[in-house]
Amino acid sequence: MRPHLILAALLVPALLSSQAPSTLGLQRDARIAAAMAEVDPARLRAMDSVLVSFGTRHTMSDTLSATRGVGAARRWIHQQLLQASRDCGNCLRVEYDTGSAVITRHPERPTWHLVNVAAWLPGRDTSRVIVIGGHFDSCICSINSMDATSDAPGADDDGSGTVAVMELARVVGKHFPQGLEASVAFVLYTGEELGLLGSTIFAQRLQREGKTVTAAFTDDIIGNVVADDGRVDSTSVRVFAVDSLALGGSELARYVWGAGALYQPEFEVIPVLRLDRLGRGGDHAPFHRLGIPALRFSERLENYKRQHLPTDDLANVSFPYVAKVARLNLATVVSLASAPPRPARTAYARDRDSGGQAFTIRWDAVPGAVGYELLVRRTTAPTYTRIVPTGNVTEFLLDEQLDDVWVGVRAVGANGHRSLTTVVGAPGGGRIPPARRTGDN
Ligand SMILES: [Zn+2]
Repeated sequence: MRPHLILAALLVPALLSSQAPSTLGLQRDARIAAAMAEVDPARLRAMDSVLVSFGTRHTMSDTLSATRGVGAARRWIHQQLLQASRDCGNCLRVEYDTGSAVITRHPERPTWHLVNVAAWLPGRDTSRVIVIGGHFDSCICSINSMDATSDAPGADDDGSGTVAVMELARVVGKHFPQGLEASVAFVLYTGEELGLLGSTIFAQRLQREGKTVTAAFTDDIIGNVVADDGRVDSTSVRVFAVDSLALGGSELARYVWGAGALYQPEFEVIPVLRLDRLGRGGDHAPFHRLGIPALRFSERLENYKRQHLPTDDLANVSFPYVAKVARLNLATVVSLASAPPRPARTAYARDRDSGGQAFTIRWDAVPGAVGYELLVRRTTAPTYTRIVPTGNVTEFLLDEQLDDVWVGVRAVGANGHRSLTTVVGAPGGGRIPPARRTGDN
């Protein structure tokens, strides 16, 4: 290197000199990599072909037939999850999650009995939950959203997400039968196509039960790689999350981005900081509305000529691609469920000794944390560019002008896993109230 280049490098401010850690400083866990390798495209295909064989999985379709309709589909999913549980020494708690909702899109507005299927991997802290779901109901909504009898294969929408979540339950259960720090709920929702009904009752139930949901993910249409115009992309996936520092949607997107770069760098994660595609919705939205960090995984290229139509068939789903998305799901979910929770609240104070150029950052202690890290980025930077380990403290003097950057605080567990970040000074975010001064009137 020429001398003046070295000098130039030395003069670059700290924020720029530490090259963007695309992996967000997450630490590789060999057990996660081993589990990812077991996600099997052939199993995904076989499972999706069974889902398609039920003819229609419309929420209002037959529930009594053993071979056709939404009832047969949910009983088969339940049975598959029970088998996965038996194979991991009964590590999963498999259940039907039920409720009812008014189908407001139907002209007669009937109240409908809704049945989701869920498999729980209980964590050491069962009050904290990571949710990963997909919807097993299907429709030919582009023709008639209330047609509950005609074939609606839904192989991609959302057979692809359904089988990914079922495969994750099997593989994560097998590799982590003792559970993780937080509980993981693998959920197959009904009623998505009629207005996110199944995910809404599940999200409300978790809230009613007083669970803290660290993050809620949905896999929805994750298997198409050829667009209607002939373009092909099997090497990237979109993750949709609302652009909110206070709610943590964008922090969650950065976490998935980092986990992808760490565990599956050849498969590009494309964060899109909006809740969903324009005019569209998904099963992460009910969680988002409850203030929970929520994110949707969707294929890079959609084929709108097949969605919600009888042509959404198995031949047009790429199962090697579904497997890549499922592996990304696995890396993200297991990392987050292995980490401590993020700090609930933060506070900051301008440092007088530095003439206001540094800031004292404070945060709530997190149970199970052995240390903390401060992550720094310019307000216009897509992800963090500097990571500052603080040790096991809850207050740290940071040599950054906080006016000009975003700083996130995260907890580090004894196992090396990192929590989501809580952004310091995020509008609407939790703040530690100023300390009450005692003794100096
Ligand atoms: Zn869908």
